[in-house]
Amino acid sequence: MAQKKMILDLDTGVDDALAIAYAVAAPDVDLIGIVSSYGNNLLNVCAQNSLKLLELLGQPDVPVFLGLPHSSTSDHFDVMQVSKDIHGNNGIGDVELPEPKRQVEAQSGVDFYIEAAHKYGKDLIIIPTGPMTNLAAALEKDPEIAHLIGNVTFMGGALTVEGNVTDVAEANINQDAKAANTVLTSELPLTMVGLDVTLRTLLTKKETQQWRELGTKAGKAYADITDFYIDAYYNLDIDKHGCALHDPLAVGVSLDPSFVQTISLFMKVIYDEHNYARTVGDKDKLNDPNPNVKVAVNVDKDRYLATFMDLLTNLFKEH
Ligand code: CA
Repeated sequence: MAQKKMILDLDTGVDDALAIAYAVAAPDVDLIGIVSSYGNNLLNVCAQNSLKLLELLGQPDVPVFLGLPHSSTSDHFDVMQVSKDIHGNNGIGDVELPEPKRQVEAQSGVDFYIEAAHKYGKDLIIIPTGPMTNLAAALEKDPEIAHLIGNVTFMGGALTVEGNVTDVAEANINQDAKAANTVLTSELPLTMVGLDVTLRTLLTKKETQQWRELGTKAGKAYADITDFYIDAYYNLDIDKHGCALHDPLAVGVSLDPSFVQTISLFMKVIYDEHNYARTVGDKDKLNDPNPNVKVAVNVDKDRYLATFMDLLTNLFKEH
């Protein structure tokens, strides 16, 4: 099986941690780097979380690059209280992991994107599961990369359901709607894995208990991290039945698009005050040929969850 070159762009909170594990566990992936974003926590905290999790999973050779510290339309970023409530004060369920041995790279995340696009072309897949500030900045610095990169599968947006920040805004898009619009209206081949599908794929303590029972460091840490998130979903009344597998679903779909049903559309993101961060079809392009976005609107959740559990449980067994 040909290995895809994958870059994750994460604001490493709990579901990002699960996305890292999925990417590490999947046999057909060469994880060439993680670009860090702000979002669930500050840029540097998210980067450190990624380094810690990679070392926990026996992947100390995967480099982590710093992206931009705030949105393209602000000069500052503060972590929202709701992010701390859902992901813990440290982003990973208040679970303490050892300090990482590896440091973040000197090269910027934006330059790493551009270099990787030129080096790997269509073999490169990018999975942003936080704000799209970094990818938008890379497109602005080197527009040619839109024609080089194989696929971008992002977690974000909501087309057929309401948002989770406002009636129309999903949290990742809401962090930097202008950057998201730059990415969605570029000529990149995109797959949108939004709330339409991620809210259907739930994980419960029945599954995390299986990891805990492995008796390994990674199994216990991931069970603790994810249980914090499941409790937050319950206590904040987001979902009483489990936690949504937002970010790891995007990784799964990037590798096996048959997990979801999609519709093809030219999209845009509204970023004026009215309907800020709404992801919607571009009515001026409804009849144009070859839409660049596949929007996931349904998911084979049982097959996805079975694959997710196989991959992660086998990985945690070893670490
Ligand atoms: Ca995320």
